[in-house]
Amino acid sequence: MLWQMAEILVIEDEKDIVETLEYNLKKEGYKVAKAYDGPTGLRLAEEKIPSLVLLDLMLPGLDGLEVCRRIKKNPKTSAIPVIMLTAKGSETDKVVGLELGADDYIVKPFSIKELIARIKTILRRYEKPAEMPKAVIKFKDLEIDTDKHEVRAAGKLIELTAKEFQLLLYLAENKERVFSRERLLDSVWGIDVAIETRTVDVHMRRLREKLGKAGDHLVTLRGVGYKFHV
Ligand code: CA
Repeated sequence: MLWQMAEILVIEDEKDIVETLEYNLKKEGYKVAKAYDGPTGLRLAEEKIPSLVLLDLMLPGLDGLEVCRRIKKNPKTSAIPVIMLTAKGSETDKVVGLELGADDYIVKPFSIKELIARIKTILRRYEKPAEMPKAVIKFKDLEIDTDKHEVRAAGKLIELTAKEFQLLLYLAENKERVFSRERLLDSVWGIDVAIETRTVDVHMRRLREKLGKAGDHLVTLRGVGYKFHV
């Protein structure tokens, strides 16, 4: 397979920031696409299917949250990781952005070094599914057999429903990564299913009950979502 250069789409209306980003990203060996407003950004995301999107929140045309929502809703672009560039101290934007499916955020003014490090981490994470998955995933007291669809906690076989199993496996495969309820619904239940986010909470509660002590791996981040903690 040919080595392909990762392309990063920058959606940001402040020209100075775009220039700085473009210069530094190219120096790191990335291809760069640019959009100075929301609608153009969305169009380019769909046309180019970049490896990652850097998304400013305050944008002309369509704001960043709306752009993020549409990228993550469109099956063509939903797998593209998004890093939001947020204004300092804007907690609500961060939470809403993560709820909408953004993968990370960085607060302005940011250090280029830090941003590049985040980009690399996310791109590495997204490359992962190409690796051969292991049949049995083990965490201390918890064993997930992906072939047999069996889960053992402290050596004891745990009866899980199909959805509980999928939810646990999804979180465990993406350990330490935080997922909003919406994101879990999309990934585990499917994007077109009209169910309430509360469903996720209910499944999570049952999973914890069934897993007993091993249920401690499942961590709630209040107001944000869930993660599998090792
Ligand atoms: Ca802006």
